[in-house]
Amino acid sequence: MKVGIPRGLLYYHYYPMWKVFLEEIGVEVITSPPTSKEILDLGTTNSQDDVCLPVKIFFGHTVYLAGKKVDFLFIPRIVAVEKEAYTCPKFLGLPDVIRSNLSDIPPILDATVNVKKRDKSPLRAALEIGKKFGVPLNKIRSAYESSCHALWEYRRLMLKGHTPDEAIDSLFSGKKVEKRESGDIKIGVVGHPYNVYDRFSTLDMLGKLKNMGAQVITGEMIRQEDIEHHAEFLPKRLFWSYERDIVGSAFYLIHTEKVDGIINVVSFECGPDSLITELIQSEARRQGNFPIMVITLDEHTGEAGLLTRLEAFIDMLRMRKR
Ligand code: SF4
Repeated sequence: MKVGIPRGLLYYHYYPMWKVFLEEIGVEVITSPPTSKEILDLGTTNSQDDVCLPVKIFFGHTVYLAGKKVDFLFIPRIVAVEKEAYTCPKFLGLPDVIRSNLSDIPPILDATVNVKKRDKSPLRAALEIGKKFGVPLNKIRSAYESSCHALWEYRRLMLKGHTPDEAIDSLFSGKKVEKRESGDIKIGVVGHPYNVYDRFSTLDMLGKLKNMGAQVITGEMIRQEDIEHHAEFLPKRLFWSYERDIVGSAFYLIHTEKVDGIINVVSFECGPDSLITELIQSEARRQGNFPIMVITLDEHTGEAGLLTRLEAFIDMLRMRKR
């Protein structure tokens, strides 16, 4: 059996966990390649116009995998990952939206994870998938344990300053991760991981910053306790989990002044992003106009414009530092 995992959306959060689990229950995992023009075009022609860029890209990866004749597509329905909040509504309906827009695709493994309900825990989702493939209970449990360990290791590598791609390479190819480089200027890059780390849609923004001599710190490189602590500065608890983490990361970087400035990467057409960007900008203003730049991504983002803005921001930070 071959199961396709689209390289988009929550791939950046959970891929090592999903891959290890599926492989340990005896399934071959096929992952779509990094986003390219071909994949974006597949996504834009097969999805609706008014969805955000990451969802369009996810459509592209899904169509690509469907063309590779996989037996199943792995698109879990992630409803809630903590008791007090939900995920973006796009994740709640993702398998249904894919089914209703794409005909002639392989069946979808759409186990639900909703930690607010006892029968929808991640372990229950794993059991549901394992049973579908006729895997004995003890094997499913041990695959689940290994997958939790892989996730823990993945996060540990990112905390050490590595990107998801580097951490995945290290976990699965044994590739030694390069030592984190330093720079004369430190930039915090905050946003959804599928925006920050997709090299095609961001026009390799992280690579460009590195070439300009900046050391980048992203949300995944900050300890969860610090994120939680600084998210508490919000007057009211945010309704969405991943967005609360983004706000907590940005607040941590602003309050501790661990970086010289922040780039907030957001998606055009994203409701949650439009709200949290306001919160982050107002906190930056409150803390003595902490430097912040918002980069909005859509499928028309141009390389020259992005480069100019990055260079101008870094020049400004260097002048400020001097
Ligand atoms: S949070 Fe925003 S960018 Fe992410 S899936 Fe939801 S609408 Fe799209």
